Amino acid sequence: MEGFSHILKRQRDFFQTGRTKDVSFRIEALTSLGDMIRSHETDIMTALKKDLNKSDFDSYISEMGILLEEIRFTLKHIRDWTQPRKVKTTMTQLGSKAYIYSEPYGIALIISPWNYPLQLAIAPLIGAIAAGNCAVLKPSELTPETSKLMADLINKTFPEEYVSVVQGDADTTQLLLKEKFDYIFFTGSVSVGKVIMEAAAKYLTPVTLELGGKSPCIVHHDADLKLAAKRIAWGKFINAGQTCVAPDYLYVHKDIKEQFLKTFKETIIDLYEDIVKKGEFTRIVSERHFNRVTGLLSSGEILHGGNYSKDTLTIEPTVLGSVTWDDPVMQEEIFGPVLPVLEYENESAMIQNINDHPKPLALYIFSESKEFQDAILDSISFGGGCINDTVMHLSSPYLPFGGVGESGIGAYHGRGSFDVFSHQKSILKQTTTFDLPFRYPNRKDALKQI
Ligand code: NAD
Repeated sequence: MEGFSHILKRQRDFFQTGRTKDVSFRIEALTSLGDMIRSHETDIMTALKKDLNKSDFDSYISEMGILLEEIRFTLKHIRDWTQPRKVKTTMTQLGSKAYIYSEPYGIALIISPWNYPLQLAIAPLIGAIAAGNCAVLKPSELTPETSKLMADLINKTFPEEYVSVVQGDADTTQLLLKEKFDYIFFTGSVSVGKVIMEAAAKYLTPVTLELGGKSPCIVHHDADLKLAAKRIAWGKFINAGQTCVAPDYLYVHKDIKEQFLKTFKETIIDLYEDIVKKGEFTRIVSERHFNRVTGLLSSGEILHGGNYSKDTLTIEPTVLGSVTWDDPVMQEEIFGPVLPVLEYENESAMIQNINDHPKPLALYIFSESKEFQDAILDSISFGGGCINDTVMHLSSPYLPFGGVGESGIGAYHGRGSFDVFSHQKSILKQTTTFDLPFRYPNRKDALKQI
């Protein structure tokens, strides 16, 4: 297989011209990116439908809409973000001024997964462009229609020496990783994240790793159960559970478990029965993932759903009860429309059980008690999350989005995306009108001279 040094060489030459650093150039590029999305909405929806059976509504709110808002926000703030930031100086630096300059790293490699194939490739690209970098995108091979469309559109919108798309699988990515990039932004599984970090270590390339894991959703005895049921069902079953921050499992207080599950089942029927019947529910991306997720249905007992079709690769929204930590469904990130339910009575034991596992990417708390909310926030480390909602935290450009521990390194969105792709160059501008003597050797009287 041919390597990619030619793309890197062309991008490096282009970067050296300094054009990508010009703020007007960046603004023009971001505007073109927004126009590209807006003028191909139908093509994008069609590709997402073919790859994942995504509805137009989901494609808009979870892919294009998020990107357009991110572009709008970035364009609004970019002139401010690109200014050198003046910071304070210390007493010993009397007469000087201090600034932080944000400078682009150079060439960024962006590797993205299949679950939100457009959003998770383009959102980091917005940051890379805003910060003044060139970029190579490597979208997922499991969503070929969207990846191909993205390659075509990016090709028409940007010269290859500025932004280019490389299509292919793990082998292609491995070849790309042989090249020396200046930044690697990876979104995907924990196991591949480790592969990426190892490859990056060879050149000491800085990385952002947006990974996954099992995100708990706690429903306390004082929660508004009707609202909790609606917001959990939406966050879990959007994109058929193939969302990195979907509630992976429910941890429900014993006292309200029966009542909550009754409401939850009614809510699922209300929100999804029609969609499933009409064949409009998002499908599982591949047969391998379909077999993996259906294999987890043997854990515990099926409280709701459980039907699936190998022909259409769909699994209906499913709730599993009588599940224990030892069941297969609790051993890996589910990444499908299957929601196991654990119960707790003792809060400390519940917290301990979560803490005995890798730090989650997201955590959700449904409770009216500030004391309970604070106890969870104080005692469990996780990437980010919501109180009395699910998933919504990732759609705010004001909240940096990322994991901690095994769920990831670094965070982006909004100003965070600009910062991720910028090196912070610290500069002290010293005065030449006087020179304080006390730092120099052999000046025993230095302090007296101040
Ligand atoms: P994945 O890790 O299998 O693949 C991600 C990318 O890496 C793809 O482009 C793929 O081609 C490439 N890749 C796969 N194997 C590779 C290898 N051995 N060497 C080099 N490159 C390789 O992930 P996926 O299945 O596409 O996505 C699902 C995972 O992504 C889940 O774990 C999910 O939680 C996580 N995810 C995280 C976020 C986030 O923002 N934190 C968002 C979406 C998905």
